[in-house]
Amino acid sequence: MNTASWVLIGSEAWRGALAAVQSLGGAVTAVVVGPRELADDVATAGPAEVLWLEPADGIPAEAYAETLAAVVTAAAPRVLVATSDPIGRVLLGSASAQLHARLVPGVVGLAWDGEKVLVQRAAVGGATIETLATDGPVAAIYAGDEVSLPASAPAPMSRLDLVPAAMRVVASEPLAVATGLDDAERVVSFGRGVHAKDDVSLVRGLAEALDAELACSMPIADDLGWLEKSRYVGRSGNHITPALYLAVGIAGAAQHMEGVRGAKVVAAINSDPEARIFQTADYGIVGDLYEVIPALIAEVHK
Ligand SMILES: Cc1cc2nc3c(=O)[nH]c(=O)nc-3n(C[C@H](O)[C@H](O)[C@H](O)COP(=O)(O)OP(=O)(O)OC[C@H]3O[C@@H](n4cnc5c(N)ncnc54)[C@H](O)[C@@H]3O)c2cc1C
Repeated sequence: MNTASWVLIGSEAWRGALAAVQSLGGAVTAVVVGPRELADDVATAGPAEVLWLEPADGIPAEAYAETLAAVVTAAAPRVLVATSDPIGRVLLGSASAQLHARLVPGVVGLAWDGEKVLVQRAAVGGATIETLATDGPVAAIYAGDEVSLPASAPAPMSRLDLVPAAMRVVASEPLAVATGLDDAERVVSFGRGVHAKDDVSLVRGLAEALDAELACSMPIADDLGWLEKSRYVGRSGNHITPALYLAVGIAGAAQHMEGVRGAKVVAAINSDPEARIFQTADYGIVGDLYEVIPALIAEVHK
């Protein structure tokens, strides 16, 4: 069984990652991307060997990701751990893709269980630790605590002379998403009172009948994806100033209403007479939107 482990180090916070790899017990190869002093420090903390890569002036470490991944892949380590910094993450991403390794973020510990690698990682926002077992190669981003490591005799160090990939950044105009909401005269907006994605066509029909733009509350766009994110209204979305804002099946949370402070008239359809939106709406219809909307459309067509 190949028990070789590698650690990719891209910043000063590397001791926890190295210790996690060393806890597996096999020979550890440390790849250090950065200044020589960093590589020297790592070399005296117990790895079997250090491969040192110093990016050329003006070349970002990311430019070496592909060629470095080829070096890692040639050694085919069973476990590959990176420090949790931009360099470590980019290098690990390329290497894990070439190695066909399982990429696991948030790792706090590693162990062997026979031929399986056990990966402990923080879950539920750090409230609990879960253990994953895998019999394939693992690429882990270390997110545990820093530790102190005993000094050892310096490990042999080799300099990696890798060719950076040709990188080109093309700056282009930002893509403005035109929704028409900014200068719309009328906006019909819907929330979670609409129960199914297929029912969005009902509200769209009302918007068309009123020659209005269609908008929504945040959960409709963010959680459900029933409308583009560029179309939700509120504190973190659009702030709009239409002559009429018709809110359909929207509770009227403060965060939502912040987006329509500038509306001249706010009207609401809601089945709950206690709905918060009725506290701020100028006009309100208490009713089931599935009954009210067809009736409204029929009225408009008259
Ligand atoms: C930091 C932060 C920022 C936020 N920013 C935004 C934001 O920018 N925009 C935003 O929208 N939200 C935002 N929110 C979320 C906000 O707090 C509310 O959770 C959200 O607006 C609720 O969406 P909703 O009204 O569609 O859903 P719900 O709260 O579920 O309300 C659904 C409403 O539909 C009614 N209803 C149900 N069935 C029917 C029916 N058949 N006919 C008629 N009415 C019916 C119900 O009575 C209810 O009032 C933010 C929250 C946080 C914490």
